[in-house]
Formats: sequence, structure tokens, C-alpha cells
Amino acid sequence: MLIRTYGIDVFTPACDPGAVRYSAIATLDADIAEALPYLNATLQGGIYNQAARAFSWRKDGHYIVFHAGHIAVSNVEDRDGALHAVEALIALVNETWERRGELAPDFTSHERPTAMSLYKLLPQTNCRQCGQATCWNFALKLSLGQAPLSKCPPLQEPAYAERLGQLEALVPPSSDV
Ligand code: SF4
Repeated sequence: MLIRTYGIDVFTPACDPGAVRYSAIATLDADIAEALPYLNATLQGGIYNQAARAFSWRKDGHYIVFHAGHIAVSNVEDRDGALHAVEALIALVNETWERRGELAPDFTSHERPTAMSLYKLLPQTNCRQCGQATCWNFALKLSLGQAPLSKCPPLQEPAYAERLGQLEALVPPSSDV
């Protein structure tokens, strides 16, 4: 087990005093920097920063940053919610660390694609078959992981096979559900 104990600080973000949601920082009893490339290899949509020894990720409405010595979580309801979120994240780190022998660590930084970079690869016909008014709206949804590529029928046509391949390389698989 990598992380055995932790201390927790739950607070209202300084940039939003009086907010009804809270942020939490768990201070760990272990340095988890070596586990971060394994999280990067297994968690979709995260961003690894090797120099900063940090891995950021979004899950269930929380913005999460794993640092070498602590884990920060935003948008928690209260102290109990913070404890619940932090314990789940610690379990995730420990489980991933236990499985490191069967995983290939990933030291690359997967920057999130911009809506514009995705838009350029869409058919740009604004045909609305995806349920969006424009291809730009669809690109925005794609960039946020809120729409699958399969929702755009024209993209599935042979004429767009190359662009679809490029999009599949940019959009995390977790978005294509
Ligand atoms: S279905 Fe595809 S081509 Fe049509 S509007 Fe949506 S993104 Fe654009």
C-alpha cells in the first residue's frame, strides 16, 4: 500500500468566499510522484505534468490534482463529501500502484484538444444530424467530452475516413460513449 494515512483540510476557495461548495486538500504520508505516470496510463482525459510532478483529472464534477505529496479536490458538498471523495481517490492511487507491474507508465502530457482544432476536422456543413445547431456547437461538446464522434453521421462516410481517424486520435475514448 502506497498511501496509508492522510490529513484533510476542507475550505471555501479564496476566489469564491461564501461559496456553498468547498475544496479539499489531503496531505499524504507518502510521495506518490512515481505513481502518477501509471494514473496517466489508465485514467482517460487527464493531463500529466512531469516537471510539476502533478496529474490533473476531472471526475463526477470534481477537478482533481494529484501532487507528489497531496491530492486536491474541488466542488465538494461538505466535509463528509470531501472525505468520501478523497478516500476514493486514495484507493484509486493505491490500486493503480499495486497493479504497476502489469501497466506501462505513460510520461507524456495529453493536452486537451481545443474546440477549434476539432471543428477544423468536422464536415462543417451544419446539417444538424448530431442534434446540434452547428458543427461548432458539436466541436464544443466534443472538446468537453460531452458527445461521441458517432453522433455525427457524415463523419462515418468513406469520404471523411481520414478526418475521422484524426479526430479519434484527439478525442479521448471516454468521450466516445
Ligand atoms: S452531424 Fe456532423 S456535420 Fe452535421 S452538424 Fe453535426 S457535426 Fe456538423
